[in-house]
Amino acid sequence: MSELHKFLFEGLPVRGMIVRLTDAWTEVQRRRAANSSTGPYAQPVQALLGEMLAAGVLMQSNIKFNGSLILQIFGDGPVKLAVAEIQSDLSLRATATVRGDVPAGAALGEMVNLHGAGRCAITLDPKSRLPGQQPYQGVVSLTNADYQPLAQLSDVLQHYMRQSEQLETTLVLAADDKVAAGLLIQRLPIEGVANLAGQQPGEAELYEAQMYEHYNRVATLAASLKREELLTLDVETILRRLFWEEKLQRFERFTGERGPRFACSCSRERVGRMIQGLGNSEANDIVAEQGAISVDCEFCGAQYRFDAVDVAQIFKTPGEQPPSSSSVQ
Ligand SMILES: [Zn+2]
Repeated sequence: MSELHKFLFEGLPVRGMIVRLTDAWTEVQRRRAANSSTGPYAQPVQALLGEMLAAGVLMQSNIKFNGSLILQIFGDGPVKLAVAEIQSDLSLRATATVRGDVPAGAALGEMVNLHGAGRCAITLDPKSRLPGQQPYQGVVSLTNADYQPLAQLSDVLQHYMRQSEQLETTLVLAADDKVAAGLLIQRLPIEGVANLAGQQPGEAELYEAQMYEHYNRVATLAASLKREELLTLDVETILRRLFWEEKLQRFERFTGERGPRFACSCSRERVGRMIQGLGNSEANDIVAEQGAISVDCEFCGAQYRFDAVDVAQIFKTPGEQPPSSSSVQ
């Protein structure tokens, strides 16, 4: 089952999180693979989307915010758009729009930054928006400060988090067809430095330098985690192997109904009601022209297909009507 773990390094201004998506991640892929017009994700796209989901869960859990966090990559290569959306209750969904072939083993740049125009956007959309309030959006390019293309999604997001939160962050991400996982280590603002400043000259600076050293040590340990280890080892083993010399303060893990899990609001019933809204003759025209009415969910890639028999059912059977207080069966 998918899980999220949070921890602190005792006495140090450093926090960490580790996420492991299993069932939630395979559901994302199952929906895509079952779509007859798209078919399953090519392996490099699958790896990118899995990493986006893992990163999105870490970023959503890292902020105090009630709403959805949407991680989008607008690509200028075969991957036109990749989207991962994570709600504050950790329910999630993801999809990607791919045009043309993605070669096996394609790098991030080949997929989304072929001409240097790829962008990554992070949107925070509050659940209850005030009138006129726009969602917050930050956009970063897929290059570093020297305009060199970034090879990993983790580099892009580390860059973004340093910019937006002004906090040093280390991210390790990995995904295959079974697991999408991520480790985040972040340096916290040091409290009480202002109080120290008035005392001994240089004391605050010395303290900050020491704390920075601690963060660097933890970040170096975290960055030594190999993708293969992140995918195959359980959370306990990873934390023990990486931080066996550190004192970790662990928190309750988030799993099941409180943990990361797949959710999309689409359903066959909803699409059926939409077809009903088209009216009998228009629905039948589409069926005559295309053999069936096929609707893809734009948020999760699920395909809903209604052939002539299904469409006839919608317009004939009262059971297919949307339930109302007077016609509950
Ligand atoms: Zn959906």
